[in-house]
Amino acid sequence: MNREPLIMVCTCEMSGRVRGKGFPARDLPARMRTGVGWVPTNSMINAFSQIPATPFGTKDDLILVPDPAAEARVDFGDGSANEHFFLGDIRWLDGSAWECCPRDFARRALASLKETAGVTLLSAFEHEFVYTGVESVPGESYSLDAFRRQGVFAEAFTAALRQAGAEPESFLPEYGARQYEFTVAPAEGLRSADRAVVAREMARATACRLGHRAIFSPILDPAGVGNGVHVHFSFRDAYGVPATHDPDDALGLTKLARHFTAGLLHHMPALCAITAPASVSYIRLRPNRWAPTHADVKRQDRGAAIRICPVIPGPDVNRQFNVEFRVADAAASPYLTLGAMVWAGVDGIRRSLEIPAEGPPLPATLGAALDALEASAEARVWMGATFHNAYLVHKRGELATLAGLDEKACCDRYAETY
Ligand code: GLU
Ligand code: MG
Repeated sequence: MNREPLIMVCTCEMSGRVRGKGFPARDLPARMRTGVGWVPTNSMINAFSQIPATPFGTKDDLILVPDPAAEARVDFGDGSANEHFFLGDIRWLDGSAWECCPRDFARRALASLKETAGVTLLSAFEHEFVYTGVESVPGESYSLDAFRRQGVFAEAFTAALRQAGAEPESFLPEYGARQYEFTVAPAEGLRSADRAVVAREMARATACRLGHRAIFSPILDPAGVGNGVHVHFSFRDAYGVPATHDPDDALGLTKLARHFTAGLLHHMPALCAITAPASVSYIRLRPNRWAPTHADVKRQDRGAAIRICPVIPGPDVNRQFNVEFRVADAAASPYLTLGAMVWAGVDGIRRSLEIPAEGPPLPATLGAALDALEASAEARVWMGATFHNAYLVHKRGELATLAGLDEKACCDRYAETY
């Protein structure tokens, strides 16, 4: 059969799904400038492919323009079509950023961090997921047997990550039923979120070729364990020197890292609406799941919202030292997670916020988190009024479609989509 290669340009917006449009690869030079057509209401398509409400109606035209620095091209070597896509930016026709572009939200936050504190952010998104290509058996947690029984998935996935430039670092059988985890190397600024988007898609792409699924939904069974996304972060100053660790501080944080962390804690209820944006995200965030339940920071404690990670003593302690944000999951676009974290951290730096002794409980439901986001005058400024409103309409519409479903039914719906 004759075949002609195609390329997609994609975004990962409010629904956390990666969506876009394709075109013949030979047209790439022209598409680099013109992108593909997009409309504002595309961003209102929720996780279940519904648009319960939209402030944009059927109006207006946008373009989704590929970023030459965010290309993924992977040949699985099995005769299947290459995975070839670019991540891109949503713009008005004149090239200016659309106010609800998720990538621009993160880009503006990172620029504000640089302007406020003169530092760049290094980060890495660690992912847990369920692979459907194995049976759940007693004793599977962390077992060599569970590692073995996933067959060639892990190796094919690692090769795909490598080809896509996502720098694989580890792959392991996790605690939950059929649950696995992978990590990739940290990257600077926006690249880290690009890498998270690419990595999730490579897991799905690999599983798809093997006739299975990689499911990243926050939790599949209300009685089970969750799939977290843990964002590790650290700072580099203008000379590339690590700027996160101060051995004399109680938590080992520099002044900058302390204020940033305090900003995360201060804005945590509103942040939750963005970083844990599914109704079932709040089933994961319950006691005894090794997931956070309070807006707290602790040294080497996996029950905290923010964990100060351990370092192996040696000459490069400052370089190793990093902080882990554990209140995220893969229902959230990595751009929105990264952007929201950085905006909150920058606010902490600007206001010289300090870490409180006690952490209040996290919102118990998505509805409560959305109310906190709505009430946050700061979040309204970070996002801009149009985006802030669109986000609330999007997520409240999604919640309304789940009305009357019990927790198991909600888990099942989200498992179909993520
Ligand atoms: N599965 C847990 C979560 O939902 C995390 C377990 C771990 O510490 O790796 O965040
Ligand atoms: Mg884990």
